[in-house]
Amino acid sequence: MRRDLELYIHIPFCVKKCAYCDFLSGPADEETMEYYVRALIREIESIESMKEMYRVVTVFVGGGTPSVLGGEQIERIFAALREKFAMESVREVTIEANPGTVTREKLKAYRSAGINRISFGLQSANNGELKQLGRIHTYEEFLESYMLAREEGFDNINIDLISAIPNQTVESWKSTVDRILKLQPEHISAYSLIVEEGTPFEKMYGEDGNRKEELPSEEEERLIYQKTKKWLQEAGYERYEISNYAKKGYACRHNLGYWERKEYLGLGLGASSLIGNVRFQNTEEMKTYLKYSDDVRKRKQNEEVLTKEEELEEIIFLGLRKKDGISKKEVDFFCGEQIEKMICQGFLEEKDGNIRLTERGIDISNYVFAEILA
Ligand code: SF4
Repeated sequence: MRRDLELYIHIPFCVKKCAYCDFLSGPADEETMEYYVRALIREIESIESMKEMYRVVTVFVGGGTPSVLGGEQIERIFAALREKFAMESVREVTIEANPGTVTREKLKAYRSAGINRISFGLQSANNGELKQLGRIHTYEEFLESYMLAREEGFDNINIDLISAIPNQTVESWKSTVDRILKLQPEHISAYSLIVEEGTPFEKMYGEDGNRKEELPSEEEERLIYQKTKKWLQEAGYERYEISNYAKKGYACRHNLGYWERKEYLGLGLGASSLIGNVRFQNTEEMKTYLKYSDDVRKRKQNEEVLTKEEELEEIIFLGLRKKDGISKKEVDFFCGEQIEKMICQGFLEEKDGNIRLTERGIDISNYVFAEILA
């Protein structure tokens, strides 16, 4: 029987860099984007056929902002994927899109390429907050893109939100959540802002930043998290992962696959893969990628064969993010004592043979992970 495989395609372009972002992405001219699409297709064509061993179950086109590419470019990428991979079992095909970069023509091209899910990076429904984050769009522009996607038949839409923005109050966050709930998307991701190293936000709000007091305190952040969960649950969204909520039947299969450690192949600049017990990554250097995308030895940046212990650590670290947690039997021999300790302290609980984070455990999940894996 063929094994399940997830595909991730990285499009490293954005109209403009957001002030908080440390992803591998940035602006580029049309010529570079076209060179990149050609290099990506060469990479796909150069991969040894996996059709015998694997069937693709999900595809995720992420970035960056994949919707900066033309619809025809996306269609060419998918035509190459269909040539190389067994795609007949694919259930979910997602593209990330940013408001202001989506047109009706592009949406039509996505559908003809087989894309059936759109993930909109909105982040906030408050235009002041969007400006502060350095986003290129307003809430009104997002609404236009969202409605256009609905008109074009997309019935599985995610909206990404960020909470704990500097100066954000519970009230301003609630007004964002209320506006989004009126739209009834199938899925909502609500992450707390992380001030990443090397970003303009770090200069302002990092350890040495002179505006760091504008960030919500840890207690406020926790309150926002608890309120978000309550509001979304009341509106019919189930929290199936620490920061992800979905209507029944709309949990993101691709991301669940990551947390369940399904095998995945990443294609494109800097894309990571997990095949068997081997993790590897493509180069993050654009020049190298454009030149050598079809040469696996030159495009690969690193490769790591995981030990049994490392695999178990990943199962715990990734699996405990899910609401249902992980099988106790699977990890008991490895860290049973630490798990019992966390259960006694009320941070983990056991249910139907699984262990999972309690509400208190979710609040301090990083501490719980560190204690278990100590
Ligand atoms: S649009 Fe997304 S990937 Fe691009 S700079 Fe902003 S946060 Fe980063």
